[in-house]
Amino acid sequence: MPRLYFDANASTPPHPEVVEVVRRAMLEDWANPTSSHREGQRARHRLEEARRELAVALAVAPGELVFCATATEALHLLIHGLHPALGDRPAAVFPGEHSACLNPLRDWSRVAWLPDLPAECATLVQMAANNETGLLYAMPAALDAVRIQDCAQAWGKVPLALADCDAAVFSGHKMGGPRGAALLWMRPALPWEPVLAGPQERRRRGGTEDLPAILGLAAAVQHLPERMALNAALAPLRDAFEAELQAWNRDVEIIGQASPRLPNTSCVLFRGRNGEALQATLDLAGFAVSTGSACHSGAVKPSHAITTIGYTIEDARSVLRFSLLPDAQSDEVEALAAAIKRLT
Ligand code: PLP
Repeated sequence: MPRLYFDANASTPPHPEVVEVVRRAMLEDWANPTSSHREGQRARHRLEEARRELAVALAVAPGELVFCATATEALHLLIHGLHPALGDRPAAVFPGEHSACLNPLRDWSRVAWLPDLPAECATLVQMAANNETGLLYAMPAALDAVRIQDCAQAWGKVPLALADCDAAVFSGHKMGGPRGAALLWMRPALPWEPVLAGPQERRRRGGTEDLPAILGLAAAVQHLPERMALNAALAPLRDAFEAELQAWNRDVEIIGQASPRLPNTSCVLFRGRNGEALQATLDLAGFAVSTGSACHSGAVKPSHAITTIGYTIEDARSVLRFSLLPDAQSDEVEALAAAIKRLT
């Protein structure tokens, strides 16, 4: 039996057209976009073309986009870059945020946990969708604070609301793009200073741009409308999977079931069971699932995304995350449910 992959929130396979675009770019567009010769100028032209296409897709100005390698990098550049001007005032962050947001806030003078919003708040960070639970979050209203949205999980799955934000980050490899391309979007005139010195990206992110990956990202974005539709159509499939598990075992709880969440994500609490052992058993049986975000699995620490919404550490150790790829089929999901019932 072929292996079945239910870990789309960790990474997705690149769209076949993306693979072709990256392959061709590695053969033809390998020159340095900063070089002044004709090859470099051609690369620069392709880079700016990709920036324009991505800006159209996000409905922002091309000059507001900075190419980075990962969303983690983009968040670090953004938050560290705001620190010199704003770091003496408090920041507020959603407690279930990804470590890619929490780590760069470590040198901030004071960090409050949303919904606590200190009066003097200088910046607030709120993810659009949680990677582990799939829960969706709106950007809180805040006067005079730089509102940062982590869109790494929401992009390509649900509509975004950038009008409510001042800066946001996007990751390519979660939405059918290649690894190595991500975006930092910032409104003009934010009190932000570059962290990585260098002439590239209008001095906002030093380092030669990974043009093949960036062209692949621009190609992936052309498929976003169909990807969003496919993801939206997953909700009934996901709901049927959850209903089957709950009918089978009354100790199974679906985290966030009654709240707005990503249509592809099912965060299941197998109360009294060990999530890591369940994950390993399913892996041996041919099913790739996750005990939490990929960045945390392998670490014994239970997921803070689960404990911050009211579950115990023991519960967090009993959670499996199933995240469906946009082309998931009902017989695949049924096979997964059958394996869970058989093996756990
Ligand atoms: N933010 C969220 C919500 C994520 O889920 C992830 C990755 O899992 C990241 C940020 C980091 O993304 P990247 O892998 O592009 O660094």
